[in-house]
Amino acid sequence: MPGPVHYLAVTAPDGEVVGYAWAAAAQIGFIDRVAGSSSAHQAGIEWFSRMQDSRRRGLTPSGVLALYSREPGAGPVFEAPGLETVKELARVVTPADDRRLLDQLVPRGHPAWRELAEAFDALTDEDRDVRWSGGRKRADGVHQAPFPLHSRPLERAVDALSGVGAVTAEHRWTDDRLPEVPAGGRLMNPADAVRAATAVVRGERFGEGRIARAVRNGLLDAVADSLRAWYADPDAAPSPSTPTVCRYCGGSPAVDAAFRAHLGLLLFLRFRRMDGPVCRTCGMGLYRGFTTYTLCWGWWSPLSPVLGPLTLVRNLLAVRQLKRLPDPGPGMLEERFDPGTPIYRRPPAYVALVPLVSVLCLIGAAVYGGG
Ligand SMILES: [Zn+2]
Repeated sequence: MPGPVHYLAVTAPDGEVVGYAWAAAAQIGFIDRVAGSSSAHQAGIEWFSRMQDSRRRGLTPSGVLALYSREPGAGPVFEAPGLETVKELARVVTPADDRRLLDQLVPRGHPAWRELAEAFDALTDEDRDVRWSGGRKRADGVHQAPFPLHSRPLERAVDALSGVGAVTAEHRWTDDRLPEVPAGGRLMNPADAVRAATAVVRGERFGEGRIARAVRNGLLDAVADSLRAWYADPDAAPSPSTPTVCRYCGGSPAVDAAFRAHLGLLLFLRFRRMDGPVCRTCGMGLYRGFTTYTLCWGWWSPLSPVLGPLTLVRNLLAVRQLKRLPDPGPGMLEERFDPGTPIYRRPPAYVALVPLVSVLCLIGAAVYGGG
């Protein structure tokens, strides 16, 4: 797809970025996040099918994007020099993605952890040197495809990886290459170890020999060692090697901060949340927009006098993280989320004075009315 494209980030109600909807001169599309969850993947399919419906009804590609930019969960529309930039953003792995994978592991103290340790300790060099069978023409003339002969201890070790939950459908394994063996015997980040275990074990179904290669080149041992080290001391685990970039504009530095909005109207409650990582500029845009919205709408239900202030305080804590950041350096894009005007220059924010003044009046009436 040559030439510039317009795109927007789509966020699920739980804050996870689902993917990126884009429009070019004659085409629309949707790019899934590579590290996204299975539910995000499903939500992306639904978004794109609705966009395609609008396109079939005769809307132009940019018209479709403009229409969907008003949907809940849609971020601001950006322009990128080409589709490759948007694909690059979709490859960003966030701390929330890592946490989701670690949540798939069985809890501490589960016997599967001991089994993982014992199964890998029992592996010998012979087990690691997998032999192949087949690959010959049988007597009846049928050509038999070669297949690896895994020893019993190797099968046990592979099963033990599944046993601790390190082989999971939450890593939507699509890549044809095996993950790299960390150089110099270094440990992997535990989430990367889960990704590698999944790519090897689930990948075996699509091309036999992945397990054989991974046990010969040391990848499988590195995966087990990294998981065991993380189990022994979660705080000492190496952090991800990928730099954190803003999920809205691709700029860095970025922090993992979430911004929230609350609407309460009689019995109707609504919550919105957008997760990071965000750069200072995009984060300020989210902070100001969501805080102003909450100041205006966050009061008018029976629970809102608690929920509204709670939302405001959480946004204040999140924005403190942002203020420690320098402005984002040159990222993947020229353009960024416009942080807009400060909150005190946004009239809807002053709606918050209504409940505040009412409470003061009530207190005043009670004090002076009581004599
Ligand atoms: Zn940004």
